[in-house]
Amino acid sequence: MLRIDHKHCTGCGSCVEACPQLAVVTRRDKYKFIYPAVDNELCTLCGRCVEVCPLDKPLSAPESAGFATKYYAAKAREKRELLHSHAGGIFGLLAKAVLAEGGVVYGVAFDAYRHPAHIRVDSDHAELLEQLRGYKPVQSDTSGIYTSVRDDAERGLTVLFCGTPCQCDGLRRFLGRDYPNLILADVLCGGVTSEGIFHRYVNWLEHRVRGTIREIRFENKPAFGHSRGLRLLYRRGRFRYLLSLPAEWDTLCAMSAQGYSNRRSCGVCRYASTQRVGDLSLGRFENIRRAHPGFPYDNGASLVIVSSPKGAGLFAQIAGAVICEESDRERALSNPALTAPTRENPHRAKLLTDIYRHGFGKAAEKFGSPGIWNAVTALLRAAIPDKLVILYDRLSRKKEEKAKRN
Ligand code: SF4
Ligand code: SF4
Ligand code: SF4
Repeated sequence: MLRIDHKHCTGCGSCVEACPQLAVVTRRDKYKFIYPAVDNELCTLCGRCVEVCPLDKPLSAPESAGFATKYYAAKAREKRELLHSHAGGIFGLLAKAVLAEGGVVYGVAFDAYRHPAHIRVDSDHAELLEQLRGYKPVQSDTSGIYTSVRDDAERGLTVLFCGTPCQCDGLRRFLGRDYPNLILADVLCGGVTSEGIFHRYVNWLEHRVRGTIREIRFENKPAFGHSRGLRLLYRRGRFRYLLSLPAEWDTLCAMSAQGYSNRRSCGVCRYASTQRVGDLSLGRFENIRRAHPGFPYDNGASLVIVSSPKGAGLFAQIAGAVICEESDRERALSNPALTAPTRENPHRAKLLTDIYRHGFGKAAEKFGSPGIWNAVTALLRAAIPDKLVILYDRLSRKKEEKAKRN
């Protein structure tokens, strides 16, 4: 019988999908995080839910047969691809390569009600790919998705599934076998918040801008280059406005980074390591400036970890469309999602209760603003174009090399 451990359950949804009696349903806790619940009336004690649950089992791994993990710094060559994607825009290129050969892609999109859910995109509806782009700090609904992935894989289609490592682990356990035509790409994840908290955040932003938000992006490359930033497209009356804010003013991501707004399981996440579940792992290349001084990181750079021959095969397919430099484990470790989980803040419960009792605005007031000095330095930093910094780095390196030669 499935024991639901609220501290460690990741809400991957594998047990919900696997139950043949439909006895496992999805419930939300008081902060609107997803948890499974078993209907004892329907349960026949078959044990399938326990079998597919990744908890208390070793992490699933891709079939790698002696494959040595490879690390890369990479970015899309095409500027449009880069500007509209997270980090170096590698996911979009991989997805296009899969669709081009008649395959299907699974990733997270918001619907018209800002409900975050995994969706299936095939080549007949390639325009939906736009919705999968961009970083989303909220947990997605995977209802029906693992079955759909299995059906597509059984039909022989090339399938690319992109999700958090816990979702990839849940999917692997659900499938129970590896498919040569299924490639899993896990994202380098520091934690996710609930849909309820995310909605309260957006409502608060709408209240502040006195408009209706049409689009929210957690990266703003046109304004801030490779640095993080918030981009809000909103409507007030007959007019549309665009608001760009540096990451320091993105209260939700700041709360997440300090362990306030994440799911409890994120605070003890087992996936924060270089042992990867996906055939590929994708995320930002943090500290790229130091790790790869010659890399043109303007408008974003991805860290790509290739953990299996299948992952290597798909990454090789987009070689012509990327600028790529081989990296290594030590340099990749600058991404905190590979070293340790974002620990739960001891005041998390209080802050989340405040959000639900008094609204996001009151909780944000208590959480605190970035401070005037941080805010000014963030804006100044954002005002220097990446290209100028890269040029400065290159000139300094040349000067150093010349001095060494003399
Ligand atoms: S034991 Fe079997 S029937 Fe009962 S909840 Fe689990 S999967 Fe469903
Ligand atoms: S399978 Fe996933 S959702 Fe179900 S109990 Fe295990 S961790 Fe939680
Ligand atoms: S931090 Fe860990 S538990 Fe949380 S969503 Fe990411 S992979 Fe899952």
